[in-house]
Amino acid sequence: MTNTNEHNGRLIVVSNRLPFQLLEKDNEIVLKESDGGLVSALKSYFDGDQHGGTLREKWWIGSGEFPEKRWKKFAKQDNATGSFQVEPLFIESKTYNKYYNGFCNATLWPLFHYFPSMVEFDETTFEAYEEVNRIFADKILEFVKPGDVLWIHDYQLMLVPGMVREQMPDITIGFFLHIPFPSFEVFRLLHTPWKQKIVKGLLGADLVGFHTHEYVQHFLKTVQMVAGLDHQFRNIMLPDRLVKADLFPLGIDFNKFHNASELPEVKNERADILQNFNHRKIIFSVDRLDYTKGINHRLSGFEFFLEQHPEWREKVVFVLVVVPSRQIIAKYSERRKMIEEQVGRLNGKYSTLHWQPIIYRYNHLSFTELCALYEASDIGLITPLRDGMNLVAKEYVASCQDKGVLILSEFAGAANEMGEAVLVNPMDKREVASAILTGLTMPKEEQVQRLEVIQQRLKDYTVIHWVNDFLKELAAVKENQRIQATKHLSKSELLEIGVRFKRAHRRHLLLDYDGTLVPLVKHPKLAIPNEDLIRLLNILSADTKTEATIISGRDSKTLEQWFKNVPVNLIAEHGAAVRMKNGDWQIEKDLDQSWKPLIRPTLELFTQRSPGSMVEEKGHTLAWHYRNVDPELGFVRSRELLDSLHHLLRNTPLNVVDGNKVIEVRLSGIDKGTVASKLLEGDDYDFVLAVGDDKTDEDMFRALIDRAVTIKIGPGNTAAKFSLTNQNEVIQLLNQLLN
Ligand code: UDP
Repeated sequence: MTNTNEHNGRLIVVSNRLPFQLLEKDNEIVLKESDGGLVSALKSYFDGDQHGGTLREKWWIGSGEFPEKRWKKFAKQDNATGSFQVEPLFIESKTYNKYYNGFCNATLWPLFHYFPSMVEFDETTFEAYEEVNRIFADKILEFVKPGDVLWIHDYQLMLVPGMVREQMPDITIGFFLHIPFPSFEVFRLLHTPWKQKIVKGLLGADLVGFHTHEYVQHFLKTVQMVAGLDHQFRNIMLPDRLVKADLFPLGIDFNKFHNASELPEVKNERADILQNFNHRKIIFSVDRLDYTKGINHRLSGFEFFLEQHPEWREKVVFVLVVVPSRQIIAKYSERRKMIEEQVGRLNGKYSTLHWQPIIYRYNHLSFTELCALYEASDIGLITPLRDGMNLVAKEYVASCQDKGVLILSEFAGAANEMGEAVLVNPMDKREVASAILTGLTMPKEEQVQRLEVIQQRLKDYTVIHWVNDFLKELAAVKENQRIQATKHLSKSELLEIGVRFKRAHRRHLLLDYDGTLVPLVKHPKLAIPNEDLIRLLNILSADTKTEATIISGRDSKTLEQWFKNVPVNLIAEHGAAVRMKNGDWQIEKDLDQSWKPLIRPTLELFTQRSPGSMVEEKGHTLAWHYRNVDPELGFVRSRELLDSLHHLLRNTPLNVVDGNKVIEVRLSGIDKGTVASKLLEGDDYDFVLAVGDDKTDEDMFRALIDRAVTIKIGPGNTAAKFSLTNQNEVIQLLNQLLN
């Protein structure tokens, strides 16, 4: 495993907003750090160089929430931005507004949080999104140097990785999405060009990070559906590069919250709170104002609890803090009104002269107030309808000392790591009410037991681990790409092969057909050779020094039809039938066919269960093709079929081959390796070239390892010495040999 030390340039963090405000006070500009998860995450990392990593300089590129004039004044004044340096962007406010309040927060935000009915589809806001992403990309391109590491954050900048990659193909780019990546069924609602641009943009990164396994799976499926690209072990195979998608659940600065209880100001605040609430039980929640946070549903759950359990009235208070956010968007100001109306109605309904059930506050909390409230409360009631992660849930548990119950929505990313919390469906007021009762009556020992398990987990994967983990993985992806790239046939290697070809007295070219001489297509019958290919093969084999063989899994009938008059050798069904040029078809063995009716029903059963798949019967092979099945279903079904066949074929002379979107059954001992070796026997070829793209070609590469120049087409592990990116490059190579 490589580590962060592999990176040796600068770390450049890119996010929509810079992590601070500049305020004008007494003609002086003062810097005020913004709050929020990402900022505190990266600040903790930047501030402590002891945390490892050799990225020497840390930079932050983002747009300023202050006028450019103020930045200039600040830069002249002292320009101290702490442990990182800053490259600000200033975007004209009309465009910014359309981008941020428009496409980001009226389209992407509701859609990615599963609120499709709230999504606005406005072409002009997408244009602004593209424009602002372009401004970011241009700024980066102006600034970045080879060796630097770019780490781009969140849904506002999804096009940026692709835009940068186009100009700098080798640069290291990590991307992290802080909100959910929705199921493809939801993502597909976006207009098709938007979908394509977003996927292309994200695939510009080398590593795309998400909070949960589920978001990674949704992204992989989306890539398959939108870009037609497959993946293996979360590696996406682009024609020229491998991109990894993986999960990195964002952590918190555990000690900062856990040890806050020792701070005198927090102690005082907590004592005040307990006294003010007359030692009643306290339920606490804090969220930004957002419809995704489920505040109205939460209030309904609390109301239902009071209704069902009158014995708890006057014994419990709900401290509900809402932090102002995106107030300019109508949906947000409406939401505020809805919350305040519900709070008012509820307080009106249940308050007595001595007690008010809900203490509502619409404002920011200081760190002291936040920690005091976390620690003083008996229940943290965190019930978003959707949330990428939810750091408040983690901070709450970290702050608890000798009591505390976390009630957490199962739709928050954090729920994946917090199984010991009381998990609820936030839409169901009965479930929320019943969880409140569970929390209020849970024995102290059980509370502490549950807390300790989660606390240990939070300690083991803090925000520092998160940053290191991401950067380490990014370095590993780069290393993997480098290994793949070294196999790619370079210009000089190509020249050398050309020279060897020219000097040789006896040459043999072993060429796979589908995916090597012709591109892969939807239906096998459509992969007909064109005139250019026929001409090329004719010219190649016109030279008496050169022998050419098409070595294919196709049946003899098809090959005969396509290459009847071409003077090449034909190998059908991986060696079951051979036609030497100018000769007749020879059946390799007198092959038994009696197994076919026994196997066929299994393949047909899978065809019925996998729309788009088909059975092909060749002379000595049965093949089940699944190229046209929904990719995810196709993959699952193909694994199931392999499993069934392995059981069925145990102790038989039959063999299963797991090919490229095809599973084939045939008699053992027939493979491209065996037939290729046989073909070369008894002749002293001094130049052999073997080219193929599929798993079945690997047999040939392994068999000819010492004899041939072996070339694999496309990405993926291979026994071949070299690789080429695509089928076009094979044709170029063959043309080059002729010249
Ligand atoms: N927070 C804050 N100011 C407040 C209250 C909370 O900065 O007045 C912090 C809180 O400590 C947490 C973050 O805001 O770190 C909220 O993160 P979360 O993931 O819970 O929700 P988001 O706002 O990102 O949707």
